[in-house]
Amino acid sequence: MSSALDELRGLGKRLTALGLRDVEELAALNERQLLALPGIGPGAVARIGSFLAARDRKLAVDPYAAYECARHSDTARDAELRSYFLCDACRNAYSSDAFSGLAPEWVSGERIDGYCGNCNELLVVRLSQWFACGTCDRVMRSIGRSISSARFVEASWARSVKHTTEYRLVETDPVALRPRGKRSDPERKPTVDFEVHTPDGQVILGLELKSGRSALPRDGVGTPMSQFQLDTTDCDDITTAANTIAAPVLLVHAQVIGRAEAPTERYVGVGLWFARPWEMLDSLEAVRQRPRETRDAAYFKTKMFRPFSEIPAYLETELEQDRRRMTDEGFPPLYQR
Ligand SMILES: [Zn+2]
Ligand SMILES: [Zn+2]
Repeated sequence: MSSALDELRGLGKRLTALGLRDVEELAALNERQLLALPGIGPGAVARIGSFLAARDRKLAVDPYAAYECARHSDTARDAELRSYFLCDACRNAYSSDAFSGLAPEWVSGERIDGYCGNCNELLVVRLSQWFACGTCDRVMRSIGRSISSARFVEASWARSVKHTTEYRLVETDPVALRPRGKRSDPERKPTVDFEVHTPDGQVILGLELKSGRSALPRDGVGTPMSQFQLDTTDCDDITTAANTIAAPVLLVHAQVIGRAEAPTERYVGVGLWFARPWEMLDSLEAVRQRPRETRDAAYFKTKMFRPFSEIPAYLETELEQDRRRMTDEGFPPLYQR
């Protein structure tokens, strides 16, 4: 037994005064217990850490430590085991692309015929668990709906637009779970979700897709929303994207609802609408802060939306005029304060 704590000088004296007699007793404590001692702050804990490391020792593991969120690779107080039904391909993609190679904490041995929470296909799925914080869990649970929404737009386009070679729909930025922070990368330029290409590859139109559970008038399921809200930053991104592709951008809303396929859930697109940017400002009702959030949102009358079944008519009779307007006057303002 050594009383080597003296080598920590003043700090050693303080620890001795607190009743700690030697390195053994010090190393038996964890960081949280040390910080709870009077006069011991993060600086002292760091010094104790190096002191112990020099003796091939370290502080005890805290049995109540916060877990590390798999997606943002850092501890988070609200990180806990979260469960997802995933097919093998999506589970592997989560590990390799979004969680820096981190394998799931646990995967069920049971193989279930059900809908994958990510790709939304009917496949063999297994319950898969990772530690995730509340924010990342919400993002992960929104991906299945977004992917299903994109497939719904493609299917609706193929069904309504007969000349799909003349108007080729191209998904530019396929939805996938990304590591935290990638999407808010300041270098990342806003893009539209879909571009419409002519046979010679010219971009003549963009579609910006928003998905939600609610309907708009004249299509969909359930009571239509009375107002459509869009973050002002989303409006700004649409404007930037339109200027980048030098073509009009339509705002598209997809109603995607969940249907139980126990124990999994299938997302189904049940309504689709679009709005012309030149009709948005006329329908603006207010710009104000979203409830309980700091972000500003623009609130629009839902009459600016038309059912997606009217898209062929738009392409035939209005697109050319909108493209000319875009060239002559630029993209219109979507909101004003
Ligand atoms: Zn999948
Ligand atoms: Zn997280």
